[in-house]
Amino acid sequence: MRRRLAAVLLLCPLISLSAIDDRDTVLQSIESRRATYADVAKQIWGFAEVGYQEQKSSALLQRQLRAAGFSVRAGVADIPTAFVASFGSGKPIVAIIGEFDALPGLSQEPVPQRRPVTPESPGHGCGHNLLGTGALASAIAVKEWLAAGHAGTLRYYGTPAEEGGSGKVYMVRAGLFSDVDAVVTWHPGDRNEASPASTLANITGKFRFHGVAAHAAAAPDRGRSALDAVEAMDYMVNMMREHVPQETRIHYIITRGGAAPNVVPDFAEAYYYARQPDMRILDGIWDRIVDAAKGAALGTSTTMDFEITGAVWNVLPNEHLSSVMTKNLERIGGVTYTPDELKFAEEIRKTLNDTPSVAIGSQEKIRPSRVGTVGSASTDLADVSWNVPTVSMNAATFVPGVPAHSWQATACAGSTIGIKGMMVAAKAMTLTTMDLFSDPSHIQKARAEFDQKRGPGFVYKTRLADRKPALDYRK
Ligand SMILES: [Zn+2]
Repeated sequence: MRRRLAAVLLLCPLISLSAIDDRDTVLQSIESRRATYADVAKQIWGFAEVGYQEQKSSALLQRQLRAAGFSVRAGVADIPTAFVASFGSGKPIVAIIGEFDALPGLSQEPVPQRRPVTPESPGHGCGHNLLGTGALASAIAVKEWLAAGHAGTLRYYGTPAEEGGSGKVYMVRAGLFSDVDAVVTWHPGDRNEASPASTLANITGKFRFHGVAAHAAAAPDRGRSALDAVEAMDYMVNMMREHVPQETRIHYIITRGGAAPNVVPDFAEAYYYARQPDMRILDGIWDRIVDAAKGAALGTSTTMDFEITGAVWNVLPNEHLSSVMTKNLERIGGVTYTPDELKFAEEIRKTLNDTPSVAIGSQEKIRPSRVGTVGSASTDLADVSWNVPTVSMNAATFVPGVPAHSWQATACAGSTIGIKGMMVAAKAMTLTTMDLFSDPSHIQKARAEFDQKRGPGFVYKTRLADRKPALDYRK
């Protein structure tokens, strides 16, 4: 059958892509464009643009999607670099999500020794250059398959500022996901796995205290110290740690603490993060943190205002969709290194602080799916997952043992090792998306599980409420 199809393709180039109708052929079409996708991923890796400033990366992905026949709406949700590309019509509507923002300070050549391309510049230490491009490869492959006579709408969501900018939360809030039936995505990692895993919900905010400045020796009685208020708040929150569920994480820094010891500070600021496996519990904890800030202001005769800078839920995993993805990931298989890549992997592992618990070679395998795991990271994909049944997987784009948000991860994300992992993800996502289009029972089962897990009467809320996207949060 495949040989016959290939013969038809050769004889009649005009019907070429529309004749694609079997899975191997779709996978081959992705493989045949490996060099193009490697180039796109490398370009975005080189742009290394941080959250909400991803103009070149976003434009490049949009150009690729337009050229492939998608219609593109850019600048959605009041975010210049956010976009939605669409192909097809009617139900079901399946969305593939791509990210493309870099991280400050992680510039690094694709070599296994610390060597920034430009010192103190951003780099793709979370591999989002691969994330956006792998999603692109998958979207184009599924689009061609849909065009050959399958019903439904496929979308690619270009989602900026995943790293602390909560970009997807604003896109959810703008209603961009309200008609979507399922979301398919992935994330770079040091393993291949499609477990239905969760993450930590995370609320972040800045507490600003205003006091009265005075000479600290000559007239301290006239002063009211804003730094005292910050310290009082921190003290109360530190005592609170004993009285919150133990999986809770609270971290803070003092971003402003006064200008000189001999002046009573009239302004001070503390920047807080609070995390918890369940947003509904974290919500109450955050209210108590705000109460501590209010109490600190009252007790120090200062005033306080605060700004929520970010809020993302914990991911709501979908076991049914994860089982579909695991099956497809197993069909694709893992990543095999060439001798040069093996040398790179061995060298880069020597630079890690800890002895990695995973061995080189594990990237060739697919990890068995585990239910009930909660990672220590937080992501804005979580807010999507409480609005639409969502599935995500990891592919081994980083050498086993290399953690995300490291220069080692930037090096891998710019190397052939990263591209290999990206291609695994693109293929597994493609087969999964095709499954969702061709068998309606998958979306039905995913939806039933989603409804049951959210519970009756669930209403999604975000602490970001009517706040505008913090487009300058990296400036
Ligand atoms: Zn990431």
